[in-house]
Amino acid sequence: MRNNIDGHFLLIGLMAYPIRHSLSPQMQNTIYAKLNVPYVYLAFEVDQEKLPDAIKGIRALGLRGSAISMPNKQLVCQYLDKLTPAVELSGACNTISNDNGVLTGYNTDGMGYMRMLKEANINVIGKKITILGAGGAATAIVVQAALDGVKEITIFNQKDECYAKIEAVAKKLNQHTQCHVRVIDLDDKDQLRQEIATSAVLCHATGVGMKPLEGQSLITDPTMLNPDLVVTDCIYSPRKTKLLEMAEKQGCKTLNGIGMMLWQGAAQIKIWTGEDAPIEYVKEQMGFNN
Ligand code: NAD
Repeated sequence: MRNNIDGHFLLIGLMAYPIRHSLSPQMQNTIYAKLNVPYVYLAFEVDQEKLPDAIKGIRALGLRGSAISMPNKQLVCQYLDKLTPAVELSGACNTISNDNGVLTGYNTDGMGYMRMLKEANINVIGKKITILGAGGAATAIVVQAALDGVKEITIFNQKDECYAKIEAVAKKLNQHTQCHVRVIDLDDKDQLRQEIATSAVLCHATGVGMKPLEGQSLITDPTMLNPDLVVTDCIYSPRKTKLLEMAEKQGCKTLNGIGMMLWQGAAQIKIWTGEDAPIEYVKEQMGFNN
């Protein structure tokens, strides 16, 4: 616990509902203490109704910024002064920076995913990614990957409300970036096999594999995964999903969602404090090394 909090400390918020279960306050405050920087991070239960007043509060109280989570990631965009290209394209913001009253919206989820790949020496620039999922995590990853220079992205999803939304995002990315993005029905297993076979990375970004769908995988045929493929799962609990277990057996390099989570937090810290987060230290402190 820090006991040196004085009048110069600045507050960083986390606005979401529900939010009490979040690991972010512990993670962020552990890092600020290690870096010895004058910030504290607190979670606030803010639903969509309270959001406009909460944003006014950022300005009125001079918060350094805030993390934004569900259900506010889309709605918050209209209350901000500036949006990064990733937020413009995805329509979702998870980070606000308050710079002398100017509120800028960022999305660090996709940044975290791309940084995780880079840190693991996986080069996807100029290559192809196949992604399973079309929700918030998938959209953030697709947008950042396209902005960073991935050449081709094929998205597979079930035909639900997310499908039409990601089709609209794909259209914008095809217009505004050099990346070629396609969306295909997850039921089309022949296409799925073909797309995976020509991809450098398979990224899983749905909840299938975590509670209540633990032990399940959208890929059921291990022969779809060749040993040259890198398989990533956004899920971090369990650490090893059915998909990652299967990929490991096939000889693929695998990465779970912890790296994405840590590096997206590190990107927020860079935005708010200008500092580089001590990632290895956080992993150890939070028990993520096991
Ligand atoms: P979301 O609710 O926005 O999207 C869910 C996605 O899963 C959609 O594409 C939906 O079509 C698909 N889906 C749901 N049930 C399915 C089923 N039975 N079969 C096939 N597809 C199904 O969720 P999200 O925020 O995008 O999160 C997706 C996953 O990513 C979750 O496991 C979440 O924990 C994880 N996540 C991890 C990080 C991280 O930092 N590691 C960040 C965000 C999300």
